[in-house]
Amino acid sequence: MKKESLDKLSVAIRDVHDFPKPGIVFKDITPLLADGKLLRLTTELFAETLKGVEVDKVIGIDARGFIFGAALADRIGAGFIPVRKKGKLPWKTTGVAYSLEYGEAHVEIHKDAIHSGERVILVDDLLATGGTAGAAIKLVQELGGEIVCVSFLIELEFLEGRKNLDSDVRIEALLTY
Ligand code: AMP
Repeated sequence: MKKESLDKLSVAIRDVHDFPKPGIVFKDITPLLADGKLLRLTTELFAETLKGVEVDKVIGIDARGFIFGAALADRIGAGFIPVRKKGKLPWKTTGVAYSLEYGEAHVEIHKDAIHSGERVILVDDLLATGGTAGAAIKLVQELGGEIVCVSFLIELEFLEGRKNLDSDVRIEALLTY
């Protein structure tokens, strides 16, 4: 992956100090999203990490994972499945609770979203403690999906989120801090 391309993404991500709580440096991706060329480049780089990998479904995690997940699904011709915060999905769901870098959360997926044996990629904007991705991995595995990759735009390495994810799962991050 070209360093110049990754640098372009990196400079478009804004650090917001003390949001949403004191002590948190929030990685604000909205300037990157607002730039059409960079949004396309991000999708291309996500797709590049998956070259040669067969995928049935892309799972996007509520809410910023929807943006990259849907763009990637369109690009590679896979279906898109939302993992949402509790109470948002209208059909029969299965859910799991977990803790965040700054709070508690509960995510859900439709029970019929993935068929047993389907090859699935999970996409989110950022890996912090790994609680969110870990919860989504559990949901996919519960439905019988095979996780072929978990892809992030950003990994906050100092939080060691990878340690909280299934060690058999392939994890990719475009940018690391
Ligand atoms: P975690 O479950 O701790 O890995 O947190 C990941 C989720 O929380 C992702 O969906 C991110 O969008 C969000 N998140 C956590 N920490 C940050 C941060 N410092 N900046 C931006 N988003 C964050």
